[in-house]
Amino acid sequence: MTQELPPPPSPEEPAPSLAEELEAARAEPESPPSIETVNESLRDGINRCPKCGSTDVRLRGSSGMLMCLFCRNEWQETRVEERFGLGEGIRDLDGTVIASGAEDIAADAQDTVTFKCEGCGAEVVVDTAESLNARCHWCRHTLNVNSQIPNGAVPDAVLPFKLTKDEGVARIREFAGRRRLFAHPRFKEEFVPENVMGVYLPYLVVDAHADATYRGEGEVQTRRWTEKRGDDSVTYYAADVYRVDREVSFVVDDLTLEGSSERATMGPGNTNNIVNTILPFDTKNAVQWNASYLTGFSSEKRDLNVADLHPVLEDQLLSIGRSEVQASLRQFDRGVRWEAEGVDVGGSRWVAMYLPVWLYSYFQEDKQLLHYIAVNARTGETMGSVPVSHPRLFLAALTVGTFLEGIAGAILVASA
Ligand SMILES: [Zn+2]
Ligand SMILES: [Zn+2]
Repeated sequence: MTQELPPPPSPEEPAPSLAEELEAARAEPESPPSIETVNESLRDGINRCPKCGSTDVRLRGSSGMLMCLFCRNEWQETRVEERFGLGEGIRDLDGTVIASGAEDIAADAQDTVTFKCEGCGAEVVVDTAESLNARCHWCRHTLNVNSQIPNGAVPDAVLPFKLTKDEGVARIREFAGRRRLFAHPRFKEEFVPENVMGVYLPYLVVDAHADATYRGEGEVQTRRWTEKRGDDSVTYYAADVYRVDREVSFVVDDLTLEGSSERATMGPGNTNNIVNTILPFDTKNAVQWNASYLTGFSSEKRDLNVADLHPVLEDQLLSIGRSEVQASLRQFDRGVRWEAEGVDVGGSRWVAMYLPVWLYSYFQEDKQLLHYIAVNARTGETMGSVPVSHPRLFLAALTVGTFLEGIAGAILVASA
């Protein structure tokens, strides 16, 4: 079995001059140390049952394991955490370490991969934008995209679905049921939770150590009194004002950042704010890539690179640092106002990962709004929006809240 990649674009344009080449070399950052995560045992594009050799392999939702449809053998790929030492050495990370599946997406990368079927020799084309598996029409061999093509479709690791479709449907039914009283009559009429879709969403999972600094003013109240002003009484206070400087060093383990720009831009009619509320995922249980985990599910390609997400990482680290120093500010009973802040990311490690979500969508025609109910297919955490009959209640249904600070607190493992 050979996997034929599309030919490179023909070099029509004139060769670059020396000056241009030097310029390009300067612009290119030093190649970062990389973690090679390609699953070598699956290089040929055929995922065989280790027991009987059949290629009829798919994920068994209830166990989160791969299952052979022929002999019922169950197994799983190794956890990337142990395989690549992803839980270790965070404090010693230096610079930006990028796993091979999280490397930059090539602008000219093609989505299609052509396989020569081992069973019958036919050529089978897989459009990786749509699917990462295909069946040979002639001999029914299943062919899988296991190599890391540079279009963002194949991550380093995958966290398999654990909740079955039936369990997903039950969570969605329960979520909508609790909002039934306010739900739009048309939504209730057209509610078919069985139309739920299993989707793997692309994330970049980051380990990092950072130093954050904050500067501002804090007030400590010294006196408080009330004076009569005609019929009104006015309350005054006196306070000592202090310059407050804080510095904190900390480590984050498995911070989860959106890998799709469409999902990362906040706004109405977007799933981002809902999908983020079903975080966190147990990313420590993610396993090495095997396209068979995707059979029967859809997936969304990553289109953001590590450099695109650096500002997002810094924002989240600043937010984590702010909550870290909070405990040291109790003496300022009138609060602290930060005027300047900064973060120095000493080292970070980036791994691309697919995370499993059951998604039920409903398009509300009168408002032209797309509603979603999303279920974390590992923990069962469910969040979403349901169209309501009363406009004010619509806002109440979107209980998004300040989830970011909450998540930040949860993933923090150490502070100094
Ligand atoms: Zn088997
Ligand atoms: Zn074939």
